[in-house]
Amino acid sequence: MKNISLRSISLAMAVAAVAATAVANTPVDFARVKITDNFWAPRLHNHAATTVATCIDQIENKTGRMQNFEQVANGGNIHSGIFFDDSDVYKAIEGMAYTLINNPDQALEDKTDEWIDKIAAAQDENGYINTFYTLAKPNDRWTDMDKHEMYCAGHLIEAGVAYQKATGKDKLLNVGRKMADHMMTVFGPGKRHWVPGHQEIELALCKLADVTGEKKYIDFARWLLDERGHGIGVRLDMPWDPGYYQDLTPVSELTDISGHAVRCMYMYSGMADVMSSTGEKTYMKALHSLWHDVVDRNMYITGGIGSSHTNEGFTEDYDMPNLDAYCETCASIGMALWNQRMNTMEPDAKYVDVVERCIYNGILSGVSLSGTKFFYVNPLESTGGHHRQEWYGCACCPSNVCRFLPSLGGYIYGVSPETIWVNLYIGSEAAMPDGKWTLNQTTSYPYEGNVSLTLAGPENEKRDLRMRVPGWCDSYKIRVNGKAVKAPVEKGYLVLSGCGNGDRIDFDMDMPVKLNSADTRVKADLGKRAITRGPLVYCVEECDNANTYDLNLKVNGTDLSVGEPVAELNDAVSVIATVPGGKIKLVPYFSWDNRDAGRMKVWLDYKN
Ligand SMILES: [Zn+2]
Repeated sequence: MKNISLRSISLAMAVAAVAATAVANTPVDFARVKITDNFWAPRLHNHAATTVATCIDQIENKTGRMQNFEQVANGGNIHSGIFFDDSDVYKAIEGMAYTLINNPDQALEDKTDEWIDKIAAAQDENGYINTFYTLAKPNDRWTDMDKHEMYCAGHLIEAGVAYQKATGKDKLLNVGRKMADHMMTVFGPGKRHWVPGHQEIELALCKLADVTGEKKYIDFARWLLDERGHGIGVRLDMPWDPGYYQDLTPVSELTDISGHAVRCMYMYSGMADVMSSTGEKTYMKALHSLWHDVVDRNMYITGGIGSSHTNEGFTEDYDMPNLDAYCETCASIGMALWNQRMNTMEPDAKYVDVVERCIYNGILSGVSLSGTKFFYVNPLESTGGHHRQEWYGCACCPSNVCRFLPSLGGYIYGVSPETIWVNLYIGSEAAMPDGKWTLNQTTSYPYEGNVSLTLAGPENEKRDLRMRVPGWCDSYKIRVNGKAVKAPVEKGYLVLSGCGNGDRIDFDMDMPVKLNSADTRVKADLGKRAITRGPLVYCVEECDNANTYDLNLKVNGTDLSVGEPVAELNDAVSVIATVPGGKIKLVPYFSWDNRDAGRMKVWLDYKN
């Protein structure tokens, strides 16, 4: 990691003192979690009216993405846009479905049904569906592994699963299933080889197996993963070597991340899903090694990964420029997807620390406060010319935000047989899947470290509660029913045994403003510091600091304090650095570029 405040020594000792007993931390589905806080709830409430509406408008009216499906259904041959544009439609539908789960809306459901009818009408008799090949290259299907046919199919399947979950309607799910069955008639053991250039199908097949109960889809996902690294990948006109799309080494032998960042994240997520579905540990050694390579040596303080514009991915370890950082929004979303899966398999707060770092920084920066403009690239410094756009020719990031944010509730809680896990601190009401227990959480996170939890369940039963101590948190107090207690910490989780109906837990985390330094091998950050408070990374924007923008943080004489909420930034709480000669005002990184255009930087000079 580029810079981080390590867990305190005392916490680390407490970890060692408790025997490792935890076995699983299965996420509580977001359909069971109602977010009620002041930070996320208003944003999610407006998601349909802003981000979802923007995606619908772009897909339907401002680009030809929907018309491509209509062209196929009507026997046309004109394809508009990029060869993987179908995936944006599917990802938007996934976001529409998730939005419907917690915010029912008949008009939105009608719109989704209308799209699904058009998609279904564009499917071949044999199950194949892809508007680019069907319209533009009907004789070249399955000839170029980097043309994203399986990538699009994966997003189709995810959208179908999501919409069935939201509405019970299975028309789109069946379209996805038919496509999966078609692929399995062409590829697989004893049939044709295939290495999907852009991963995604693997994790989608695991979801399909989950809803259909058909193990064959997991087998196919594993087969696709194990096709990699044997020199059989074929791409016709892309300038990349096999390392770019993770085809140099068999996946179970991977040790270091390389190539395109989003492809890596989706592949690791698929590897985790195959193991979770089968109980095998086939890829665990590789995933552990990859995790350390990404988090220890290639992750920005914002949770951004993939520093290079050239390959949308990785170069050398510690090569992390700020001004030229790529840090695609999708890559940070991928980090959240993968790390949640790691935490499900082997609960450890370090994984959720990454999820949280991404959610509050590198992902949330990807969408404007209005919900209608998007960053594809999330640099840590700007000379004033980098701004969110209403859409992109390659629109993977807007459509990914569209589906990720309404699924946020699924990252807060987990369950194992006798235990309820609290992974994130987001005010919410949650009904556990056992149908017996509910949890109410109130908090002013991420601006304050106060959390109160109230448990409700059967009088004659008890549950253990495991509450994550965030990696940024060095000191805290915990009270159960008003009484101060000392609880052991295991793998970064406080363990409160034997909690029962009506119990109230108050968890108060000190949330000071902190100065962070990077690993000295990161040349771009030598002699610099970044400021954080709680899970939030802060930045300097020119509009707040017209006369002091270039003031340095002083080695001796910088005083850090919590500032006022900024009204134009939805009351985002500012931070003030007082240095000899002036005050520097900082705002949360996610909120930058929502006011007057200007310069921005996260890493500030630190000298006398
Ligand atoms: Zn993207």
